[in-house]
Amino acid sequence: MRTSEQQGVLLYAFTCGHITLPMSFFLDGEPGKARVPACVFLIDHPKGLVLFDTGFSDRFVGMEKGLGKIVDMPDGANISDRLKAIDVDPGQIDYIINSHLHIDHAGGNHMLPNATIIVQTPEWDFGLSGEDSAYDKVDFDLGQPVKRIDGEHDLFGDGTIVIFSTAGHTPGHQSVRVRTATGEAVLAADCCNMRRSLDEMHLPDHCYNVDQYRGSLETLSRLRRAGAQVFYGHDPEFWSQVPQAQELDLNTLPPA
Ligand SMILES: [Zn+2]
Repeated sequence: MRTSEQQGVLLYAFTCGHITLPMSFFLDGEPGKARVPACVFLIDHPKGLVLFDTGFSDRFVGMEKGLGKIVDMPDGANISDRLKAIDVDPGQIDYIINSHLHIDHAGGNHMLPNATIIVQTPEWDFGLSGEDSAYDKVDFDLGQPVKRIDGEHDLFGDGTIVIFSTAGHTPGHQSVRVRTATGEAVLAADCCNMRRSLDEMHLPDHCYNVDQYRGSLETLSRLRRAGAQVFYGHDPEFWSQVPQAQELDLNTLPPA
């Protein structure tokens, strides 16, 4: 899909399913409920195709009981179908960077048969431990190659895709800085659910580690002040303004 005129690192966004949860789950103390997207990014680098998160699994399509009551996963919304719609073969994805392994972030891993999963070591260990019901091993313990990292990792060694630790939501949460032709993107995921999380340093009502969570928000705040475009993990209002399945121009997004 990369044309001869397109150079450098290209970034694409998708939503792969939605989930409805109490608003306090994202912003402590807030009333009501929020229907939020599960977000996925395709990073097209000259040396390889990379996904950041993979959304919900298609096992939720048509599910009416249990999690099916809060997960909205239509037919055709999975990452495999969304990639095919822009002429990307899911078999050509080289890497999956999972921000963490919760069901709304790792559900499509099984559809990327040739990808190596990149995850922080504490996240992999915690996900496998069975201590938290927001994980399901059927999503990620699939025999795919797993590259465990600890802290910062420059994926191709050229500074364009830099993974960094943003622990707190989970033990091994990570985010990514992506340098595109139109600026730097920070793919936050659940270390920063909403724009308000950052504007107000507003934590969710649940964290694996509150101090780490606050530290991760501070890291993001520094990056935003330095001019990066932060992609808030679950902000429905922000995501309603992000063009999907097309090359993103960071200058056309709502101002930080
Ligand atoms: Zn999560």
